Amino acid sequence: MESEVIENLKQIVGEDWVINDLSKMQSYLYDETEPLLRPEASEDCVVVKPGSPEEISDILKYANRILMPVVARGGATGVCAGTIPIKPGIVLSLERLNEIVELDEKNLMITVESGVTLGDLLKFLSKESKLFFPIHPGDEGAQIGGMVASNAGGSKAVKHGIMRNHVKALEVVLPTGQIVTFGGKLIKNNAGYDLLHMMIGSEGTLGIITKATLKLYPTNKYSGTLLVSFNTRREACDAVPEILQEGILPLAVEYMDRIVAVKTAEKLGTIWPVTEGSIDLMFVLDEHTEDELYSNSEKIVEICEKYNSVGSIIAETAKEQRNILEIRSAAYDSYKEILADVLDTAVPPSSVPDFFDDIAALAEKYNNDIVSLGHIADGNIHNFIMGENGKIPPYYEDLMVDIYKTAIKYGGTITAEHGTGKTKKKHLYIQFSEGEIQIMKGIKKAFDPNGILNPGTIVD
Ligand SMILES: Cc1cc2nc3c(=O)[nH]c(=O)nc-3n(C[C@H](O)[C@H](O)[C@H](O)COP(=O)(O)OP(=O)(O)OC[C@H]3O[C@@H](n4cnc5c(N)ncnc54)[C@H](O)[C@@H]3O)c2cc1C
Repeated sequence: MESEVIENLKQIVGEDWVINDLSKMQSYLYDETEPLLRPEASEDCVVVKPGSPEEISDILKYANRILMPVVARGGATGVCAGTIPIKPGIVLSLERLNEIVELDEKNLMITVESGVTLGDLLKFLSKESKLFFPIHPGDEGAQIGGMVASNAGGSKAVKHGIMRNHVKALEVVLPTGQIVTFGGKLIKNNAGYDLLHMMIGSEGTLGIITKATLKLYPTNKYSGTLLVSFNTRREACDAVPEILQEGILPLAVEYMDRIVAVKTAEKLGTIWPVTEGSIDLMFVLDEHTEDELYSNSEKIVEICEKYNSVGSIIAETAKEQRNILEIRSAAYDSYKEILADVLDTAVPPSSVPDFFDDIAALAEKYNNDIVSLGHIADGNIHNFIMGENGKIPPYYEDLMVDIYKTAIKYGGTITAEHGTGKTKKKHLYIQFSEGEIQIMKGIKKAFDPNGILNPGTIVD
């Protein structure tokens, strides 16, 4: 990186907040994208850690003048290479924007700077408030700005929706350096085009998010975790709609192939608490009263029995619940080193059983031991694609196209929560027509005419 650029950036943020020594910069170049899949990062980068929106504004004005790419970096827990700088440029780390700005209990909202991590937000709320924030994409190192930019989902979407449903206002620095606020502490807001929602899920390609106002909920006092086992995927899938039709709204309904649960438990040095069957549904319930918790748990077990469940257990103590939830959370990590890719396709929930059949047929066709887990009530299944001898399998691209086309056949999406990033950009054509992609390119141009923000992400 040219020394003039580094000097100018130091002028803006101060000497201590610019890193251009490659050995110190390495940990800022990659995210959680599978090592086999991720693109090579450009090492001709400089890491900058601004301390305010005004400094970000000056950085973007400067970058726009010299046409230098800028890649926003949140918690770097993303899995579609969104934070990986593939061109020489500036890596803009948001870590210093880490203040909780305002807890507004009357409006059930909280305003935070974008670099606040999910873990810190949850800790703050559990200490300072009876309210809670429900979106949980698995890794609490994710930052609020990154969660907004990637429109995070996670296991609690069945009851509470996704990040998009919880963002009321955003402060954003546009590539021109203009600092704007989209939205407000409003329940209803219909003025003009919805620029707030344009920013959500924009993956650092339209603007830099510096502050977010988020919706909160009262905490339910009583929680329990229920595991129900089945012999077949279809029986497990078919039980879920009836539970929802009954008016029971669990916090989470997670699906796991047993093989994933057992392998993960072994890695953690513990055991998966059920042995019957080969498929598990995990229900997390949080209710106002103890009675509601028990009656809903009983109803779930009854409905599952109608679909031939072969066993069930209720984890009531905090320790039992923690054991099950920890195994579910660690499933990805326990496979990570042998994986080529983790998919996050979604289909309408009623199509999940047929989608599973197609995935099983593709696993056989390509001879890949695909295993599955995921957010079944959202129709959002994570299929783990195995690597081959530590490499991406030679048929990987054909398999991806087959899986994505299968999801689209059911009216699904190629990515329900991880985002397009740099890894799925080339597959957008499977879901969208050329006309639709041209509209996306027009939006990108309107926000970022010189294309400096996160090049190579979503669209060019
Ligand atoms: C074990 C594990 C489990 C996961 N489970 C889930 C899950 O269940 N559901 C789910 O949705 N995701 C999941 N993820 C993916 C990831 O945690 C989410 O996508 C998360 O929202 C990313 O937040 P982050 O701060 O780490 O963003 P980053 O990875 O830092 O960035 C993501 C994108 O947002 C952009 N960005 C970051 N900050 C800003 C900002 N302030 N302004 C503008 N753009 C910005 C980046 O440039 C990048 O394109 C999981 C990841 C892991 C490792």
